[in-house]
Amino acid sequence: MFSADEVRSNYERIRSEVGEAVTIVAATKYVPLENFTALAEAGVVVVGENRAQDLEAKHAAYGNAFRWHFIGHLQSRKAKVVNRTCELVHSLSSESAAKRLEIPALVEVNLSGEETKSGVPEAELDALLAAYPQVRGLMTMPPETDDPEASRPYFSRLRELAAECGLPELSMGTSQDYRVAVEEGATLIRIGSVLYQG
Ligand SMILES: *Cc1c(COP(=O)(O)O)cnc(C)c1O
Repeated sequence: MFSADEVRSNYERIRSEVGEAVTIVAATKYVPLENFTALAEAGVVVVGENRAQDLEAKHAAYGNAFRWHFIGHLQSRKAKVVNRTCELVHSLSSESAAKRLEIPALVEVNLSGEETKSGVPEAELDALLAAYPQVRGLMTMPPETDDPEASRPYFSRLRELAAECGLPELSMGTSQDYRVAVEEGATLIRIGSVLYQG
């Protein structure tokens, strides 16, 4: 699928663009188990999985090689797997999942109002924060776009909201718009496709 050298060169380029202070989370939903060795060789430190089942299998094989984050839709019945394997959830969006969760989390906020998007509406953020003491920050996924600048208003709104709530961490920016996200204050970026291209 890709070589360690390709991933290393992409990873180091992104690192030099975003600086040392930003956590680069390698989104691994596209990466089959047999390619995880190449990720470790490339210098990737933090991986983010979307599905609890994949997380479980990949963590069983490579648990000690990475720090693990969960970035997909979190169902409450999968919280147990995430508690056992991960240091951070980026995508908390329900009180039912919060009841079963035991690790630090970011709340995913749906700022675009798209119905297909997960995340809580702004109006429900305070209630979820009150329900879960281990919230460290916010996450958002802007609408898909070819223009990174189109994401900027969503990122700046997320930064405002986090500041109002006194939350330090901002998970925002993917391959399409991570440079803009970092300009707007991202502390974590979630990168998939540009990391794996040759
Ligand atoms: C896949 C995924 C990413 C990475 O997206 P790319 O466009 O491949 O960089 C980031 N965040 C979430 C929640 C994802 O599912």
